[in-house]
Amino acid sequence: MVTVLVALVVLAASPLTRAAPAQAADQWNPPANLVQPLNEVWNHVSTTYPDLYGFRNYGWDQVMANRGSINYCVRWESDAPVGTALRDQVHAALKKQFGKWTAAMLDNGTGHNAWPYTSVPVNIVGWAVKNRSTLQWTDNSVDVYAGNLDSGGAPQCAPDCGRFFHQDGDYTKCPGGAARHYDQSLWLTKGFQGGAGGDWGQRVGQEYFTGALSQEDIHIYLHEVGHTFGLDDFYDWTPTGQCCFLMNAGSATQITEFDKWMFRDFWRHLKSRYGL
Ligand SMILES: [Zn+2]
Repeated sequence: MVTVLVALVVLAASPLTRAAPAQAADQWNPPANLVQPLNEVWNHVSTTYPDLYGFRNYGWDQVMANRGSINYCVRWESDAPVGTALRDQVHAALKKQFGKWTAAMLDNGTGHNAWPYTSVPVNIVGWAVKNRSTLQWTDNSVDVYAGNLDSGGAPQCAPDCGRFFHQDGDYTKCPGGAARHYDQSLWLTKGFQGGAGGDWGQRVGQEYFTGALSQEDIHIYLHEVGHTFGLDDFYDWTPTGQCCFLMNAGSATQITEFDKWMFRDFWRHLKSRYGL
């Protein structure tokens, strides 16, 4: 009797009995003062967009489909010439700015709540332009699409290579195959004011983006990337206690703590679709 009881006590105290199950528990630990406003945001989003659980082309889906990277097409809707230096500066800025969102998924270098990627490389696989002569580089380090225009007359990379058009991941008609497919477009339009963003990418003014290349935060672009990952606007309400954050347009110029936790909350609600 006594022996059995002792064995039971030891077993109950053993770490083995508290080992993590095969599916990790939800690690949701926002700062206490953000719990209520985050719940308000999720309630708002999930009732305003009841289809969100069926939508399969968020930035999350794209990164996961690529196993941890993202491919871009740059749509240069402008006649301003682009040399090698500007081309490479655009890529560097894109890496840095996009990386601010993916870094928001890390705690001391470790993925938050089963987020699997410590870095998410950003590749530019194509530049689209109306006239080839606008692009003044001569190397072939990136594919160029000249004169491929959408229905509105704006240059685009080949739709055969675009995830927006091939959400099943079938890029067999893309000349470069899946490796040269693009998930998103950075659409830079001369004279365009403000921004737009969605699963297809982000659109901002060409002059704005090239004028902001050296800025720490290209905030309109950053806001639009938030939309790519499902975050909403706040035109008609604000969550309790939160006035100023990137997704509340005009109130902040960088990703704030509240933006970071809204981003993480979106992942929390979608991650089960990846078996996490
Ligand atoms: Zn917006």
